[in-house]
Amino acid sequence: MLNMDQKIVIVGAGVAGVNAATKLVDNGYPGKNITIIDMGKSPYERKPEEVMTGFLGAGGWSDGKLTYHTAIGGHLSKYVGEEKAMSLMDEVINNFKRFHPKPEEVQCSNPEAEPDFIKPYFGLRLFPVWHVGTDYLHEIGKNWYDYLVSKGVNFIWETKVTRIDFKTQEIFTDERTYGDFDNKYDRLIFAVGKSGIDFAQSLQEKYTFPTEPKPVQIGVRFEAPQHHFQKLIDISYDFKLYRKFEDKGVSLRSFCTNNNAAYVAVEETYGDYSYNGHAKKDMTFKNDMTNFGILMEIRGVENPFEWSRKVVKECQIKDKGLYYSPSRNVSQTSEGNEVEAFQIGLEELSKVKKSFHGYFDYITDFIEDMKKVFPTLGDDWGIYIPEVKYLSPEPLVDYSDLSLKEHSNVHFVGDALSARGITVSGAQGILSIEKILEEEWVDTGDVTMFG
Ligand SMILES: Cc1cc2nc3c(=O)[nH]c(=O)nc-3n(C[C@H](O)[C@H](O)[C@H](O)COP(=O)(O)OP(=O)(O)OC[C@H]3O[C@@H](n4cnc5c(N)ncnc54)[C@H](O)[C@@H]3O)c2cc1C
Repeated sequence: MLNMDQKIVIVGAGVAGVNAATKLVDNGYPGKNITIIDMGKSPYERKPEEVMTGFLGAGGWSDGKLTYHTAIGGHLSKYVGEEKAMSLMDEVINNFKRFHPKPEEVQCSNPEAEPDFIKPYFGLRLFPVWHVGTDYLHEIGKNWYDYLVSKGVNFIWETKVTRIDFKTQEIFTDERTYGDFDNKYDRLIFAVGKSGIDFAQSLQEKYTFPTEPKPVQIGVRFEAPQHHFQKLIDISYDFKLYRKFEDKGVSLRSFCTNNNAAYVAVEETYGDYSYNGHAKKDMTFKNDMTNFGILMEIRGVENPFEWSRKVVKECQIKDKGLYYSPSRNVSQTSEGNEVEAFQIGLEELSKVKKSFHGYFDYITDFIEDMKKVFPTLGDDWGIYIPEVKYLSPEPLVDYSDLSLKEHSNVHFVGDALSARGITVSGAQGILSIEKILEEEWVDTGDVTMFG
């Protein structure tokens, strides 16, 4: 039995955590009994370069492409089926529109036909994407935050949760800057995203949850002038080229394409650099570049997490990631600084290939075939090494509300579970709350109860 005086604590104010809180208060749950703890900052304090931590989390603050298909970004339909998955994603997209200063500018690109010129070399995955516009994300963040605060939700910023005791239902930080919050929870939403992956891992080790097996996801961030790809961009803005080598357990895909005002972003995980990208909607930032990840999914690697970390570590020189190009130099960030990367030549590239245990050849072939499909490309490209998706060991959860099998009041959501994207993460946040809201409300006099 859960009464409305029970405390719901959300660790992580990313898209998963924020959508969970929104679902609660939209349905009348008292905001004063919801606490969100985040090691980043509020949308009023957070700087644009703080890419990974703070209100709206990672891509919700710095990119904002909302993919709208169950084949992209995690296992939502595995949990709830196709129809329900789509309706949860609708809720996330509507939340972004709801707090958008110009919701009419949120547009959906929905390409339909796979073009012939791609076919001999690549498959092309086509799916709808809602474009919120990077430049509006900070305003959306502020509006959304103001709404939650107006409903009484308690936020604790710049506070890193370092330990959780599932038995005593307590949360610990090194700083103990809880304020009014006494560190106990009745229900916990664990939504720490990628920046909290080491923490998720430590909980995993402590409580030895049963997990689902995971593949390695690693590659590079490819960048080139946009005109080489324009023919394809006209058909599909966020195109996804892919190819599969079933017998080798390897598949490759282009990932998270950015165009027009497209910038490469550094991600720092475990003190190492890897790369990602984002696009600005404000055309004063237009640089006519395109960037996307070329990501390999490699199955059958024993201990994929440690394997990926080792590769990433070996691809660092002078505490930076690497940049290789046959003709270009490192490009600039949207702030006008050089992207932090150490430029390498062919000799160092051969060391990178060794670190990738032979798998780098798949990336080289991918680029060579792109040169055939996009004939003007030639040597006019560069790659930032590495791009990596550390998939946290995914605990086995109850699919109906994403709660842990042995701790039914603890829900794993977003990138901390299986999501890889804004829409799926937000949808998982909402799903974790829905079952609570479905329970019958019982009025016990002073306190309204869920029965
Ligand atoms: C540069 C970039 C661009 C991206 N662009 C897109 C895109 O366009 N479209 C898309 O679909 N996906 C994109 N993504 C991926 C997407 O951002 C993530 O899949 C999504 O944000 C995951 O949501 P989440 O809420 O699970 O985690 P996050 O958004 O990562 O949020 C987790 C939050 O938890 C907090 N946290 C972590 N550990 C702790 C701790 N121990 N204590 C307290 N707080 C903690 C962090 O500060 C953070 O605010 C992008 C990612 C990056 C890095």
